[in-house]
Amino acid sequence: MMDATQTAIALKPGRDKSLRRLHPWIFEGGTGRVMGNPDKGDTVAVLAADGSLLGWGAYSPKSQIRVRMWSFDPDDIINASWIGHRVTEAIARRSTGIEATTSTACRLVAAESDRLPGVIVDRYGEVLVCQFLSAGAEFWRSPVVQALQDAFPNHSIYERSDVDVRSKEKLPARSGLLHGEEPPELVSIQEGNLRFLVDVRHGHKTGFYLDQRENRAIASRHAHGRTVLNCFSYTGGFSVAALAGGATHVLNIESSGTAIALSEQNHQLNDIAADRYTHQEGDVFQVLRQLRDQNQQFDLIVLDPPKFVDSQASLQRAARGYKDINRLAFSLLRPKGLLMTFSCSGLMPTDLFQKIVADAALDAQREAQIIQRLSQSADHPTLLSFPESTYLKGFVCQAL
Ligand code: SAH
Repeated sequence: MMDATQTAIALKPGRDKSLRRLHPWIFEGGTGRVMGNPDKGDTVAVLAADGSLLGWGAYSPKSQIRVRMWSFDPDDIINASWIGHRVTEAIARRSTGIEATTSTACRLVAAESDRLPGVIVDRYGEVLVCQFLSAGAEFWRSPVVQALQDAFPNHSIYERSDVDVRSKEKLPARSGLLHGEEPPELVSIQEGNLRFLVDVRHGHKTGFYLDQRENRAIASRHAHGRTVLNCFSYTGGFSVAALAGGATHVLNIESSGTAIALSEQNHQLNDIAADRYTHQEGDVFQVLRQLRDQNQQFDLIVLDPPKFVDSQASLQRAARGYKDINRLAFSLLRPKGLLMTFSCSGLMPTDLFQKIVADAALDAQREAQIIQRLSQSADHPTLLSFPESTYLKGFVCQAL
């Protein structure tokens, strides 16, 4: 309950609707009076325009997302043990998922989806990697780390808060060891029958694309006897999965030499003969054109580009980028071939992405059907009240 010293923020009249539907973000434009002079990351009481208490959130004075809600229960008291409890709950939910039995790497805390806005924790074997992406997450960093220590006493805890979004919260980039021993240069993980090395210090995100775990398994099942083109191959996740599933050959295209070097190691780690795969360092947009001009054809193509959309304003340009690579991919696909195509941009709606892929097939003068719809793995859940948490979408398209 509120006391007289509590900092608070009142919403403008009529701006409480999304909050009453448990959406966790309050934008700058919806906020009215700020009471008690809260600091960055402080917990504020959130009031409707009529003064009724809607819950508690973290204040971020410079961010467009002015408050991220911790709780919609007026009786809650947001303190270290409350935060620690939310972390423990998120970890406990993972222990019942199938990935817990088949993989040593998993997202333990998925920010808003686990009702801990801005907090991400990934587990890679004995190393936990955290990101604190918002002012509120930063404020409660210690109790998060303490809860992780309690749940995994012998694990290292490493921070990778070196991401652009922190600048929107006026937080500096930061990375380094938080607890335990320095992690090895490369951390080894098991994913089903596959093994991967992860560079938790320098790799993308926290090191590996755990959100694609289930899609790698699907690629593996489709790969038998097929030639594969794996675009945006990073450290070789889809390639290793496809080869383990019996692909005859994989051509990987990736612009980062460092990623290719680690991909090479991942292939060796899984005992894959060197003549079954190739890495080509280059720009996918250009290499696909070269392959088309050489009349190359593939039985299975994976298109998993980086995030093309970072704002509503860039959606149009991103749409053109997606259409371009999908059109080229359709033109490189053998009849009856499969295209696994993805967008990891949260701002790209699934129906628009499907339309772009449809337009791409039309332009390539190919007919195809969607035989499977793909999304992020189960340890990256979608909170129903926060549909924005579905960011990864994809299709398995079969050429007719
Ligand atoms: N499919 C990967 C993840 C891809 S992330 C996996 O499952 O592990 C996107 C990758 O695309 C990054 O490794 C990035 O270095 C690479 N990349 C970005 N733009 C590129 C371009 N134009 N051409 C080739 N690779 C690119």
